[in-house]
Amino acid sequence: MPLIIGVLKEREDKRVAITPDNIKRSKIKDVQWWIENGAGAESGFPDALYVAPAKGSTRQEILQQADIIVSIFPPDDNELGSIRKDALLISQFRPYQDDTIQAKLANHPFRAISMDMIPRTTLAQSMDVLSSMASISGYKAVILAAQQLPRYFPMMITSAGSIRPAKILVIGAGVAGLQAIATSRKLGAIVEAFDVRSAAKEEVQSLGAKFVEVEGAKDDKGAGGYAVQQTEEYLARQRAEVQARAMKSDVIICTAQVRGRKAPVLIEAETIPQMKHGSVIVDLAASTGGNCALTENGKTIVRNGVTIIGDSRLEMDMPEDASQMYGNNVLNLLTHITKDGELNLRPEDEIVKGCLIKS
Ligand code: NAD
Repeated sequence: MPLIIGVLKEREDKRVAITPDNIKRSKIKDVQWWIENGAGAESGFPDALYVAPAKGSTRQEILQQADIIVSIFPPDDNELGSIRKDALLISQFRPYQDDTIQAKLANHPFRAISMDMIPRTTLAQSMDVLSSMASISGYKAVILAAQQLPRYFPMMITSAGSIRPAKILVIGAGVAGLQAIATSRKLGAIVEAFDVRSAAKEEVQSLGAKFVEVEGAKDDKGAGGYAVQQTEEYLARQRAEVQARAMKSDVIICTAQVRGRKAPVLIEAETIPQMKHGSVIVDLAASTGGNCALTENGKTIVRNGVTIIGDSRLEMDMPEDASQMYGNNVLNLLTHITKDGELNLRPEDEIVKGCLIKS
C-alpha cells in the first residue's frame, strides 16, 4: 500500500500547502498525493497541474483515509473528529499563542506536527516556515509602504530637481526585519534598525543599514534565538530613541516580537503627530498587539496624516511563491520523517522533538 499524503484546501487563505512543483521534486518513495479539489486554484495551481502521483480528492476522503494530512491552518474542530487513529496531521497550530490547542488535540487519537514549532536550527532551516513566510512579509511590507508613501524611496537627480532618499526605520531585525532592510536598500532608501539581540547588529550592518544601539538589552542565548522580555526601564529608553528617529523617518516597518507574549509597544500615540505628514507605518506585529500604540490589527488607518497599516499576514498576498516555499518546507520535513515509503517518526530526533506536539 502506498503512503497517502492528503493536502487540504485552505478555507481562508489563497495559499496551498503543497504545489505541483513540490510533488515533482519529491523523492519520497511509494507515495500517493491526494489533493483536495480546487486546493491550489487561488494560488495559481489549478487541479490540472497536479498530475500522477497526485490525484484529486474530496475533503472527507482525505480526512478519513490519508496517512498524513497537510494544511497551512488546521481543519475545523468538528473535522478533527474525522481523522483516523495513527494518522499524522501537519499544520500550524501556534501552541505558543493558543493555550487551548494541546487539550483540544488530546481528545483525538491522531498525531500532530506543528510546522511553527520546528526548531530554529541550522539543521532544520530548510523546514522553517516561520522564516520563509516572515521573509515574504518583510518584503511585502516595504512594497506596500513604497506604494503608499507620497515620496520616492531612492535619491533622484533630475532636470526637475533633486530628491532626497527616503529614511526607513526598521524595528526588530529578525527574519522579516532583515528582509525589509534588504528590500528598502535595494530601492535606494537610507535605513536604520533596532533590535535587542546583539547578534542582529552585524546582520543589519552587513545589509548596509545603521544599527541603533540602546544599551542594557537582555539577551538570552538559551531562548532558541528568540528575543526575551525586556525591563520596563529599558523599553522606556528604547521608546525615547524610537521617537527621536520616528520624527525624521518616512517609513517605519515594525516587526519586534517576543514569542508567546504581547509585542512591545515602541511607538507611542504621542509620537504620531510629531511624524512627517504622509509617513507610513507598516506594523507586522499587529496580531500580537502591534509595536505602535495606535495599530489596529487587520486595518489601515490614517492619524494626523500618518498611514498606519496593521497586517501580520502579508505572506497571504503573495500566494504563489508563498505556497511554493511553504510546500518546500513541508516536503523537506516529510523527507526527514519518512523512510522507504513509510512514516518514520523518531521521538529522539531533535526536529521531531520540537514540532511533534501530539504523539
Ligand atoms: P520574531 O518574529 O520572534 O521577532 C522579530 C525580531 O524582533 C527579533 O529579531 C527580536 O529580537 C526583535 N525584538 C523583540 N523585542 C524587541 C524590542 N524591544 N526592540 C527591538 N527588537 C525587538 O523573530 P524571528 O524573525 O522569528 O527570528 C527569531 C530568531 O530566530 C532570530 O534570532 C533569528 O535570527 C533566528 N533564526 C535562526 C534560524 C537558524 O539558525 N536556522 C532560522 C530562522 C531564524
